[in-house]
Amino acid sequence: MTISRAHTALRSVSLALGAILLLSGLTSCRDRAGRPQAEPGAAAQHPNILLLTIDTLRADHMSAWGYSRSTTPVLDGLAAEGVRFAFAQAQRPKTGPSFTSIFTSGYCADHGVRRIGQPASCSMRFLAEEMHDLGYQTLAVVSNAALAREFYFDQGFDSYIETWKVAPKKDGLDPTGAEAVTDLATAVVEKMTTDKPFFLWVHYVDPHAPYSPPAPFRDLYQGDAHSGPSVEVPVARRAARQSFGGIGTREVLDGRRDLPFYVARYDAEIRYADQQIERLLDELRRRGFYDQMVTVMTADHGESLGEHNYWFDHGMFGFQTCLHVPLVVRFPGVATPRVDAAPVELVDLAPTLLDLAGRRLRDHTWMRGRSLVARLRGELAGARDVAFAEAGYSSRPDWIRVATDGRFTLHHLFERADRRRVAHADVPWALFDLSEDPGETVNVADRNPEVLAHLRTLLEGWESEAPLPMDRDRADCGARAVESGTEQQLRTLGYL
Ligand SMILES: [Zn+2]
Repeated sequence: MTISRAHTALRSVSLALGAILLLSGLTSCRDRAGRPQAEPGAAAQHPNILLLTIDTLRADHMSAWGYSRSTTPVLDGLAAEGVRFAFAQAQRPKTGPSFTSIFTSGYCADHGVRRIGQPASCSMRFLAEEMHDLGYQTLAVVSNAALAREFYFDQGFDSYIETWKVAPKKDGLDPTGAEAVTDLATAVVEKMTTDKPFFLWVHYVDPHAPYSPPAPFRDLYQGDAHSGPSVEVPVARRAARQSFGGIGTREVLDGRRDLPFYVARYDAEIRYADQQIERLLDELRRRGFYDQMVTVMTADHGESLGEHNYWFDHGMFGFQTCLHVPLVVRFPGVATPRVDAAPVELVDLAPTLLDLAGRRLRDHTWMRGRSLVARLRGELAGARDVAFAEAGYSSRPDWIRVATDGRFTLHHLFERADRRRVAHADVPWALFDLSEDPGETVNVADRNPEVLAHLRTLLEGWESEAPLPMDRDRADCGARAVESGTEQQLRTLGYL
């Protein structure tokens, strides 16, 4: 190589390096004395990010969503200071599949994860890996054993704390309860370095069955003015566990069989998680992070509280009880506080966070998702007209698929049993009008042929899309042995 060519090559390397540094916001300004100073706006280019997720939290049981009980005063405050996406949809109402969609921004048809205990896809990039590559320290505290590292949900995390494996054995302290989660997450925040931005994921499992919040919360709502009408919960005679048609003998709590008792307990779990989240936010405030950081709050799916004869479980159907989840993004200076009612899918979360973290995205999309950053600023451009999801037990050969535009929900039913239970007739399509029937009980397909035809075309288009190509450079997940503690926790949650 001649000197001049070497010089040109060096120059282009240094230009490229400069461009990379500029893009990644790692350049630093210097004051007159030449001392390095934080560049104005540098924090905004790589903001700290907290992803708060609450298992099994129905949007309509949060006071911010209009619920009559004050279940979420802390999260309501968060919602008031950020953008509340009023109509967010999970992609499949089960923990493992839903989180795989959140982290890969792929649909179940892309990543193939449809049941608990199935390893998350290793041949797709996870959000935490992307964050890591952007220079973030990636940290997680999770309390649902369905998210154990045995199932590869730790991909991309520098530190992955599974509360049931490490929480101290203290009298009365549930190792998966919100108090233990906040204790461990707070310890992570205390030890965090400030030389790198952080991506911290904290997952609370409390509203998941069994509904057993600690003492001060246990009877908080029992018999209050908001208790619904007394409905008897059917109890199976022989099955220890059951969810369709009634609950199993082992799932009866305190010998009670009345629905308002169980709903009050479920709500109390939410209130308990909300109170513990305040401790975590206080620690972030104390360390001076809170007002410059991105805080996202959502849930992996909701819960059926007896609607459609489906009791205290999620996954079997694609009704809004299980698909409609809360979503809030707080980012002072960027997210203008407001309510955004257009449909959002949880696959939109990863591109949104990557966009905020300074990753260059083509057309503001990544995998299946669309960045919500323009919507955080109050622009509706690029909003989805329709959100898609699937549901159904993994033993079935085909899944229920759902499309919703925010007012109507269309369910595509393949199995005769599903048709009977959802459409109340042997027909493949059930259309519900949420504006007059939020409980999705009356099939109005015949009365709305144009809506049916429109949503059907979109849903069939979605169903026939080819899966995203897998990353060929990545190996398949090998089997990781499941630890006995994880197995025990899965049993407690009713998965085994
Ligand atoms: Zn879950």
